[in-house]
Amino acid sequence: MSIRVSSVSFNYGPRGALNDLSFELQAGRFNALLGPNGAGKSTLFALLTRLYALQSGEISICGHSIRQHPTTVMQQLGVVFQQSTLDLDLTVGQNLKYHASLHGISGRDAQQRMETELRRMEMADRINDKVRSLNGGHRRRVEIARALMHNPSVLLLDEPTVGLDPQTRLKLNQHVRSLCEKQDLTVLWATHLIEEVHDEDNVLMLFKGELKAQGQGAAICASHQHDNLTHLFHHLSGVEEVA
Ligand code: ATP
Repeated sequence: MSIRVSSVSFNYGPRGALNDLSFELQAGRFNALLGPNGAGKSTLFALLTRLYALQSGEISICGHSIRQHPTTVMQQLGVVFQQSTLDLDLTVGQNLKYHASLHGISGRDAQQRMETELRRMEMADRINDKVRSLNGGHRRRVEIARALMHNPSVLLLDEPTVGLDPQTRLKLNQHVRSLCEKQDLTVLWATHLIEEVHDEDNVLMLFKGELKAQGQGAAICASHQHDNLTHLFHHLSGVEEVA
């Protein structure tokens, strides 16, 4: 099992953000964490990445407890946060090299990994360009390449397509899906956009801190007696669709 979350709850003071979450993600799959604004997606990411300490419950990644083996867990994780964390005044290559050195990768190894990951994201020809000169979609691709520099087995992306146009969103989603297939990478892709989720994905539907549905997209539609994921999502969010 790649990620195991057991009975995780989280409160901001008196306000509950996550309520008794439990799920398991298999290795090498594309998993979609789908929920509207405020559902608790970023809070879950903050716990998975140890930005926040667990208040209750357990998380293990690739078999290692996040409490007991935090360093090992962090080596397994690549993360793309909702807000970009690239340095706009550095080049693409400088951003990636800086990340590599934080992970103890340097010299020829860093250079090779950088070239491999940028090639995979079709960004190799922009290595010497300042990030400031890239469009939003390309910046996101650089962030994904950077997140994979230390060769993690799990990639977490928190609403990576926010602010991108529909075509760029689709392309980025396709890129990550192909990484998942070709590299046996476990992906957790958080989004509030149902069109980024496919029937064959493992889907976690989160509403007000509670998991209301989880499983393969087509299977959860069938078990909730809805024709498709859009209908199910609207039903669970309490939004009636216009016919
Ligand atoms: P979005 O798509 O808007 O980023 P989200 O699904 O990521 O939403 P969270 O940001 O995790 O949701 O928020 C979950 C709940 O916790 C919301 O009710 C939010 O208002 C609340 N919350 C988030 N961060 C804080 C904080 N630092 N202090 C207090 N409440 C918070």
